[in-house]
Amino acid sequence: MILMDLIERFLSYVAIDTCSREDSPSCPSTEHQFELGKKLAQELAEMGAKNARVDEHCYVYAEIPANTEGQPVIGLIAHMDVVDCVPSANIRPRRFRYEGGDIVLNEEKKIVMRLADNPRLAGQVGHELIVTDGTTLLGADDKAGVAEIMALAEYLLTHPEFPHGTVKIGFTPDEEIGRGADLFDVEGFQADFAYTMDGDFAGGIEFENFNAAAAQVILHGHSVHPGSAKGRMVNAIKLGMKFNSLLPAHAVPEATEGYEGFFHLNSFTGEEEKAELRYIIRDHDADKFEIKKEQMKNAAAAMNLLYGEGTVELTIREQYRNMKEIIDQHPEVVARAQDAIRKAGLSPVSVPVRGGTDGARLCYMGLPCPNLGTGGSNYHGTHEYADADEMRMCVEILKEIVRAR
Ligand SMILES: [Zn+2]
Repeated sequence: MILMDLIERFLSYVAIDTCSREDSPSCPSTEHQFELGKKLAQELAEMGAKNARVDEHCYVYAEIPANTEGQPVIGLIAHMDVVDCVPSANIRPRRFRYEGGDIVLNEEKKIVMRLADNPRLAGQVGHELIVTDGTTLLGADDKAGVAEIMALAEYLLTHPEFPHGTVKIGFTPDEEIGRGADLFDVEGFQADFAYTMDGDFAGGIEFENFNAAAAQVILHGHSVHPGSAKGRMVNAIKLGMKFNSLLPAHAVPEATEGYEGFFHLNSFTGEEEKAELRYIIRDHDADKFEIKKEQMKNAAAAMNLLYGEGTVELTIREQYRNMKEIIDQHPEVVARAQDAIRKAGLSPVSVPVRGGTDGARLCYMGLPCPNLGTGGSNYHGTHEYADADEMRMCVEILKEIVRAR
């Protein structure tokens, strides 16, 4: 078997448009994800992986049998889809050795990636980078993760002397629309724990994310002709403004960072008679998360007291939970990755994710699953890029994770 260069492999995946679509009810949400799914299943089978297959929902699974006994079964997971909010077809990637300064992505269209806006570049001088032409995304999120897992599989299958336990591989569709874990066959996967390869810088390990809920607030007003409205009109739009003013003013995304949670008003529609506000509620801390939901209920209760029962209808829907609650019960999973990162010559860095991950969902489906960096940057935008040297380091990290001990 001819070994495939990691970056060539990555570029071959990036060439396939796999954007997922929120408005599609099917799974996968878009048919073209099968193009990559089938290719990966076929490549895994050709490498000699066991049970390589793509199921009817475009989940790809494969197994590399253990060559050493007494080892845990470790899962490695990445997602195949990319976001659809940025052009994702006909990507023209460019590889070059970065020598510092700003990067001209597109001479003709004068698109420049500035060092000042991308401080991480300062640490990447001398590295081989892969950028776009500034008009599309790159797809490093998450094809860098896919390519690294594939490279590891190829390595293990061509180096039988390298000692390891059973390695399970899973590639999912539709992660970017929040459905990647939906039909993941946790039971069939049969891993003791797993890692998603879906972070950014190499050496990153994430095991904390938000607790998340969504709230819908419906305000009922009373519409009267403005000319004769005195003492009678109740404007639902203004009720909405009032409701929002009852929430803590500084607990909003634009004023918070790190472990600070927020209420984010992401939609406000309506007329005098009826208005609707939609929020997402986020907090890493479970107690503070509960308090935030209470604050919202209190605001609704206060409005109903003031304007009459039934003025405000509040519905809070739980979305996902912080994986830390589960990971804390399996400290060896994080320790194993941290140890592997050090053996690969890097220092492990953990930052709390200000969002959710498929791994968080998988944790609550019974599969402890922190998230590891892949060497990509600027996800979901036209300035997305990958660091080829970091990607190679990520494969080394994966080797150390699965190495028998
Ligand atoms: Zn991703």
